[in-house]
Amino acid sequence: MKKSRLPRIKISEDTTLYVEQIAIGGFAPLDGFMNKEDYESVLKRKRLADGQVWTIPINLAVKRSVAARYTKGDRVALVDSSGSEMAQMDIEDLYPHKRRHAAEAIYGTRSMRHPGVKHLHQLADVMVGGKVKMLRAPFSQWPRYKLKPSQTRRMFAERGWRRIAAFHTRNAPHRAHEYLQRTALEVVDGLLIHPFVGRRKDGDFSSEIVIKGYKALIKNYYPKDKVILACLEIPMTFAGPREAAFHAIIRRNYGCTHFIVGRDHAGVGGFYDKYAAHRIFDELPDIGITPLKLQGPFYCRRCSRVVTESSCGHGDKERVQISGTIIRNMVKQNKMPPVEIMRPEVSRVILKYS
Ligand SMILES: [Zn+2]
Repeated sequence: MKKSRLPRIKISEDTTLYVEQIAIGGFAPLDGFMNKEDYESVLKRKRLADGQVWTIPINLAVKRSVAARYTKGDRVALVDSSGSEMAQMDIEDLYPHKRRHAAEAIYGTRSMRHPGVKHLHQLADVMVGGKVKMLRAPFSQWPRYKLKPSQTRRMFAERGWRRIAAFHTRNAPHRAHEYLQRTALEVVDGLLIHPFVGRRKDGDFSSEIVIKGYKALIKNYYPKDKVILACLEIPMTFAGPREAAFHAIIRRNYGCTHFIVGRDHAGVGGFYDKYAAHRIFDELPDIGITPLKLQGPFYCRRCSRVVTESSCGHGDKERVQISGTIIRNMVKQNKMPPVEIMRPEVSRVILKYS
């Protein structure tokens, strides 16, 4: 692409992913980076200034020395790490980044042990608000799986699905994930499995394992005409309940009517109560998508199946916990996780690609 003569602002990889979602409608109704009015409103009441539900600030942060060159009304080019112009932006607002205030509002803590708070402190000093126009989508390793909201909506319509549940994940599927997905499939027409790919948390499986693991699960166990696998590439914010609501809003924009919220969705260490991500939806009844609030599944030896507290009357002694940590530890020793916690077809994928 020919370079414009606009002044250039270099943006991070995370920011290019925000530009993309803004441009393709994944962040609707946002059409740019937040101005101060929306930002303050989101921090204070989980809504944009016009009252629509929105829980996570979407900001472009720049250094003070960069911000000093611009004023409201300027048009700038947003340039990615390779130096190529990926978007243009009309600056509407420049305002200070109040880190402690933002940390308290978004994460409910100022503790630097919280990865989201730590990330906030690494962001630059000035927020720039304004509409963006994408010129070129960021590079993706998974172009085949990276569907746009217009594409998923069309696929749902072509299949005649009216009730669609979305499942957010960043890990390879174990039996607890499968339980949640099957529970949803009992009550909806179709399921969008929408794993997060991109920058990982330490200890997460690679995006390749996640995608191949899901392909194995779908191929061997699920009705093919009821499941779509696509990827979502956005930065993680580790914001617990607020992030759960944010994930739901995005899936609403992709055309889903229901959103599966399990135990400790988007949680971080012990910062949030296990079911805080369920309760936030009670504050946001007009979010535009129905949360399917489900308990954390486990394997019960007496019931001989994966169940939750909602349907199993047995005690801890009978229960086998299913967690990514247990699976990762087994994989490190090159051992197949037992079938009670992971399907062998999925385990083989993990062992092969780890
Ligand atoms: Zn039981």
